[in-house]
Amino acid sequence: MREKSWREIPIGGMIEDAGNADTYETGSWRTYRPIWDAEKCIHCLACWIACPDSAIQLKDGKMVGIDYSHCKGCGICAFECPDKIAALEMKLETEVND
Ligand code: SF4
Ligand code: SF4
Repeated sequence: MREKSWREIPIGGMIEDAGNADTYETGSWRTYRPIWDAEKCIHCLACWIACPDSAIQLKDGKMVGIDYSHCKGCGICAFECPDKIAALEMKLETEVND
């Protein structure tokens, strides 16, 4: 059987009634929490580019914090933060829970 080309595949639709990622607060899934050190941060935004949950908060092109309601604690931001800077550190929620 011949496979369809991309031109023959129907254009994807969006189901608004299903909600969106902004609606679902996934912060409760987190085991590790990224802790941001504003003093060390050079605002390179590597963490913002890499975060799969858009949880890095910006204002006027600079990082201003982390949206813990949506951060799942994957640790990608801390991995991407330059080693020399190390402005993000992953800590167990049980160590930082407030
Ligand atoms: S831990 Fe993951 S979800 Fe949370 S801010 Fe970092 S990259 Fe985003
Ligand atoms: S990757 Fe690190 S230095 Fe760059 S904006 Fe994020 S926290 Fe700041």
